[in-house]
Amino acid sequence: MTQTNMSRLHLAIDILGKLVAFDTTSKNSNLGLIRYVQDYLAQYDIETTLFYDETGEKANLLATIGPKDVPGIVLSGHTDVVPALEKGWISPAFDMTERDGKLFGRGTADMKGFAACVLATVPDLVKQDLAIPFHICLSYDEEVGCLGVGSMVDHLAKIDHPPRLAVIGEPTEMKVINGQKGKYSMRVTVTGTAGHSSFAPHHVNAIEYASRAIAMISDVAREFETNGPFDPDFTVPHSTMLTTTISGGTATNVTPDCCEFTFEIRHLPDHDAASVIEQIKTRVTETLETEMKAREADTGFEWEEIFHYPGMGDCTGAESFAFVRNIIDEVSGKVSYGSEGGIFEKQGNIPSIICGPGSIAQAHKRNEFVEISQLDECLAFLKKLGDQAVA
Ligand SMILES: [Zn+2]
Repeated sequence: MTQTNMSRLHLAIDILGKLVAFDTTSKNSNLGLIRYVQDYLAQYDIETTLFYDETGEKANLLATIGPKDVPGIVLSGHTDVVPALEKGWISPAFDMTERDGKLFGRGTADMKGFAACVLATVPDLVKQDLAIPFHICLSYDEEVGCLGVGSMVDHLAKIDHPPRLAVIGEPTEMKVINGQKGKYSMRVTVTGTAGHSSFAPHHVNAIEYASRAIAMISDVAREFETNGPFDPDFTVPHSTMLTTTISGGTATNVTPDCCEFTFEIRHLPDHDAASVIEQIKTRVTETLETEMKAREADTGFEWEEIFHYPGMGDCTGAESFAFVRNIIDEVSGKVSYGSEGGIFEKQGNIPSIICGPGSIAQAHKRNEFVEISQLDECLAFLKKLGDQAVA
């Protein structure tokens, strides 16, 4: 390892420790972390733009390094983390600890490690004569449905020279991922009528109607499994749909007047999930709800979208991918978990890949860690990106 690499690695580890120390669980404000990054970048005379949420308690951060008159490269990461409430953390989740070449702490893999490497690369980027700019993008509320990044993506899509490519630094062990499923998360509330269970035929049983709707959802999911559409690059090569939670009823001898369930569809990037949901809704309305309302007008189904984010398509054939083609060994496939890549691509028209340090296997669980060697690999990747962007 060269001296420069060594000092960059130390800097990245130091920054990561600071980022982890901000408890940016999605329900909390991320402004402490954002202010830290602003101050850090200000040392290098880099201006930042913040995009606040409606409460003013959370913000996206955008910082551009290099010329403004050419399309640049986005380096994107989310600042929020999932809660660290699991039992069995060996060391405090928000106090990063090193053991056996690994850095433990909430967010070390998902995905403050990437942000730390990007920030540790800044001292080099500002010294380079960049012909192509880098846009550092840090978002909020990714872990609760990719809710935050949109305002920043909309802004980037409208600048005079929108970015040519986005690198989303989710933990892929630095493998390049060229596709990601999209997701719709839905809540359904079924209203029936309550009464003594001995008069069951006189009442509208919300749980039973819910279960019939759930069976329809399950049937459609099975159609995906047998009839596709398929994309063999995904481990599960088709869209999936399932009921995820359910609750209802008040007592063992009362006809349930309420049942609530949630379901999700994780869809292939080009599979029109919105119309799948519309079709299910129509079927439920025309059959089950019509039947319910014929018995009691105030009963029925209510549908609510909790959130959705789009899938990310394969951009490796696109011209913009050429910028990174010669610095990556291979493209490793597609993932079924969510990332902001789909929003950059579908909402911002910015082709995207996912590539970052650490493993998704360590994310969202106790004793989350990133290997120091992964940070090192990420720094090497960012260095090559920087060199590639030099005039
Ligand atoms: Zn993540």
